[in-house]
Amino acid sequence: MIINAFVEKTAKTMRKFNLLLWFILIFSNYISQSPPTDTTHKENYLSDRDAKFAVSQIVYYCGLEPNFEIVEDYNIKNANAFIKRRKRFIKYNPLFLKRITDSLHTDWAAWSVLAHELGHHLLGHTITKFTVSYEHEIEADKFSGFILYQMGASLDEALICIESEGNPHGSHSHPPLEKRVFAISEGWNQAKNLKNKSITNFKQTDNTNINEELTHRIRFNNELTSYYVNVERQLIWYDNYANAILISTLKDSENKSFKWEFFLEKSKYAIDFKGGIWLLSTHGNNLSVGDTEAIENN
Ligand SMILES: [Zn+2]
Repeated sequence: MIINAFVEKTAKTMRKFNLLLWFILIFSNYISQSPPTDTTHKENYLSDRDAKFAVSQIVYYCGLEPNFEIVEDYNIKNANAFIKRRKRFIKYNPLFLKRITDSLHTDWAAWSVLAHELGHHLLGHTITKFTVSYEHEIEADKFSGFILYQMGASLDEALICIESEGNPHGSHSHPPLEKRVFAISEGWNQAKNLKNKSITNFKQTDNTNINEELTHRIRFNNELTSYYVNVERQLIWYDNYANAILISTLKDSENKSFKWEFFLEKSKYAIDFKGGIWLLSTHGNNLSVGDTEAIENN
């Protein structure tokens, strides 16, 4: 009995000790994992939420989903956009966003920064190797103005951040203030002009007076671009704004084997009577480089 009582007492003590051990372990774990309560971290949390909310709203106006990684970084000056391991990142310094929001008394300041960074992604700037490009900055600024108009910002609100933060002389990476103000205003006005405009109101942007009555389509081997011949025997190409661009003019060939000849990038080409396109060489070894097909006009 005595032995049994001793064993039982020891087991009870061990259970108590185990309980205490578990309690210490759990409590210490809780302490180490509980969120810090100092104010800096509270601000971090809020800027994290606010930045993600802003980006989600901006992409909503583009008809897209916020499938970006939005992260804070105290080591960068303001914000940037990049791709890492096939993921699209937007990084921002919370202190920068907080400073401009507080000093300019409007959320539009921070939103225009995030819209600019998002613009770099959507415009395909981040898929190229990182290079400093004034052209890219201007495009992203224009996008920022365009989106901010759609979100309800006035022109002053769309410009408030750049007017406060922009460098009048520019920097190695960014164009001068005046150019950036112009780009944001251009985007903002473009969005404004689009409002209430249906597709039937759109005008051809072409003002080059090129005749677009087309007779033939020309395709070079291994090239996806199409070229066209118009009734005036001009060789044209359409740029991404659908503007007709004159690139050459066809002339009757003096060689009986060919119907037409034309020059393109210092090389001489000829089109035979079956529509085959030949690169002419001085040695007589002409090279077949493409085909022509007639366009039927109804
Ligand atoms: Zn930029």
